[in-house]
Amino acid sequence: QAKEDGRATWRFYASEMNQRLLQRRQLEMDLRQAMAMGEMALQYQPRYRTNGMHIIGAEALVRWQHPLKGLLGPAHFIDLAEETGLIVPLGRWVLNEACNEAARWPEHICVSVNLSVVQFRQSDLRLDVQRALTEAGLAASRLELEVAESILLDESAGALATLNALKELGVRLTMDHFGTGYSSLNYLRSYPFDGLKIDRSFIGNALSSANDRLIIKAIVGLAEALELTVTAEGVETGEQLEWLEEADCAVVQGFHICQPQFAQEMERLVQELG
Ligand code: C2E
Ligand code: MG
Ligand code: MG
Repeated sequence: QAKEDGRATWRFYASEMNQRLLQRRQLEMDLRQAMAMGEMALQYQPRYRTNGMHIIGAEALVRWQHPLKGLLGPAHFIDLAEETGLIVPLGRWVLNEACNEAARWPEHICVSVNLSVVQFRQSDLRLDVQRALTEAGLAASRLELEVAESILLDESAGALATLNALKELGVRLTMDHFGTGYSSLNYLRSYPFDGLKIDRSFIGNALSSANDRLIIKAIVGLAEALELTVTAEGVETGEQLEWLEEADCAVVQGFHICQPQFAQEMERLVQELG
């Protein structure tokens, strides 16, 4: 009887406690295979200068074209990719693909690529970026790298040294999700950033919260003083866009203006609106 109980307990444990682990293991294998099978893809979301509303660049956003589940956004797999280290080869692929694509766009249009803190820790980013640019024949000035502020909290990553090395290549560096982390102002002064992106949580509230409007205006003023390009992301309505134009926000990006697009449609857009 005791033996039976033991087995039952084990089965319970195995089914309840390990199920999540097994699911993650399965997802990891699926993701690994997806990368090998060419199921990863990039969409590009254009960024517009408010003055004239021309496209000045586009942000590359990774997607997984899952054969059964359809088009999956990064929320479904980025965390796992970071935990397993798969983000390193995936991030390399994103860099290469984005640079190759941008090389087909008019020369004044840049591409932005998101970087994970794990890429800073586990790979020679400078080398990866250099290779991607050379192989695509893309001028370094046409690549912008977006890093979240949290990268700077990670001492082990040697973030400042890597950022300086990347900066030396001639690429642009932008702080993503600005306003959601800590000590942003200090980082902005002492790190080699060219721009910042105001987190979309502020933009979403801009028309209802006087506080958020004040914060956005303060960030725009600060960016101007520090000679940083300021982008508002997550612009979802015409009213938000109008308000941001009046607040002198230089660059905007959001569903209201343009949804993320696959490469072919993006090429058409930059010819038309670039
Ligand atoms: P992010 O860098 O802040 O990218 C912008 C996200 O906001 C994208 O979500 C985009 O689709 C979404 N977005 C754009 N306009 C609007 C809007 O008007 N309203 C709302 N609610 N959302 C909008 P997505 O593609 O799901 O990406 C989520 C995050 O995943 C990104 O946030 C970025 O941190 C990360 N990510 C995406 N691609 C990559 C990648 O290639 N590598 C790494 N390491 N991270 C990536
Ligand atoms: Mg980004
Ligand atoms: Mg962002």
